[in-house]
Amino acid sequence: MGPDDPAGCYILQVPELPEVEVTRRGIALQLAGRRISRVEVREPRLRWPVPQAVRKLAGRTVRAVRRRGKYLLFDCGDGHLIVHLGMSGSLRVLPSGTPAGKHDHFDLVLGDRLLRLRDPRRFGAVLWTAGELAAHPLLAHLGVEPLSRAFAPARLYFLTRGQRISIKQFLMDARRIVGVGNIYASESLFRAGVHPRTPARRLSRSRCAALAQAIKETLRVAIRAGGSSLRDYVGADGAAGEFQLRTWVYDREGLPCRRCGTPIRRIVQGARATYFCPQCQKR
Ligand SMILES: [Zn+2]
Repeated sequence: MGPDDPAGCYILQVPELPEVEVTRRGIALQLAGRRISRVEVREPRLRWPVPQAVRKLAGRTVRAVRRRGKYLLFDCGDGHLIVHLGMSGSLRVLPSGTPAGKHDHFDLVLGDRLLRLRDPRRFGAVLWTAGELAAHPLLAHLGVEPLSRAFAPARLYFLTRGQRISIKQFLMDARRIVGVGNIYASESLFRAGVHPRTPARRLSRSRCAALAQAIKETLRVAIRAGGSSLRDYVGADGAAGEFQLRTWVYDREGLPCRRCGTPIRRIVQGARATYFCPQCQKR
């Protein structure tokens, strides 16, 4: 299986945590410390209506760009602009005055550059909150950040106690752990050698430790892969970077396992496809 194996690369269609994190890093480099000069809302009908408060952000300074789960949080001092990319959204930094296309619904203009949201399906969100972030209805129930120090092996063991659902479905529950989407759940379970149908509560301490480590590694590898396309997210030409991943199991049904050669299997759990190696992954 060479690097040109077409089944080996998966192009992300829905932005997941690594893609959002790569976007955040690119935006933070370009925008942190800059003053908002103008806001342009071309289409307020996103997943939720863009509130009037967003149109009045001119004059504020973007102090920092943070992330919670898949939400980007622009710290403006007295409140936060909250941006979610939904199913098809992308953000880019462009020179001010760049003509907008059909799906370019929102611009934050900061002097000589602007941040532009393109979202053909309009499941994305642009919101404002002056309140406590942790108490915001969209953020209050989010689980632990998998890349944070708080997500230690002991934490995963603690979280899974008493949980009868399969570990695959457990990993995808954002109320417990945020940002482990369908692709990364399959990939992490493969790395840890855990069968996706294993009941969460049956995982031993040592297997929880291996799985927590595998989740962090899987996400970091994806962020690194995305980092190589960082240039494209912030480039003056506005070309979108393609976020390609070389997957171990995801979307590889019937293809030989990259470790042992056994054909990869596909099953459905909670209406979502799961891919795994029946040889490398044990209950
Ligand atoms: Zn295998």
